[in-house]
Amino acid sequence: MNKFPRVFHFLLKDQVITEKQVWYPEIASKDLLSCAHTEEYLDNFINGNVNEQEQRRTGFSWSEGLVRRCRYETGGTVLAAQVALQRGLACSTAGGTHHAFPSFGSGFCLLNDLAVTAKYLISSPKRKVLIVDLDVHQGDGTAFILKRNRVSLHSRCIVGKTSPSVNNRVT
Ligand SMILES: [Zn+2]
Repeated sequence: MNKFPRVFHFLLKDQVITEKQVWYPEIASKDLLSCAHTEEYLDNFINGNVNEQEQRRTGFSWSEGLVRRCRYETGGTVLAAQVALQRGLACSTAGGTHHAFPSFGSGFCLLNDLAVTAKYLISSPKRKVLIVDLDVHQGDGTAFILKRNRVSLHSRCIVGKTSPSVNNRVT
């Protein structure tokens, strides 16, 4: 997890960005998160009702700080998408938690920031979303959550759009 603040630090230090270009997210509300996660999972995760097996599966010991961090991370991805729509481009120094499913976390992913953001964006009519996932693993959680949103998946690239002609396919 230390990589995230370090990326931010080096972006500033190496003058890739300036402080004026930095936006700070709000914590993702439970309501926002519920577009990709079940009420039960969110209640259990937020309140620390997480057993040993579930913690092993995610790779994280539960803490309030972990919950806060994941919620800010998801808020950051949503904010980056909103800023990108206004300005043409934006990046988040965290996120990409593509192994989180609606009702469980997995593989260091607890809240699926990509699916939450895609669902949030495509709730507006005629809006299309493209997720380019360059991780070495397939984004199984993202694929699962977005399978009913007319989403096509090709290897590590996920194309989400509102057109009903796009197949739901995992290759
Ligand atoms: Zn992965």
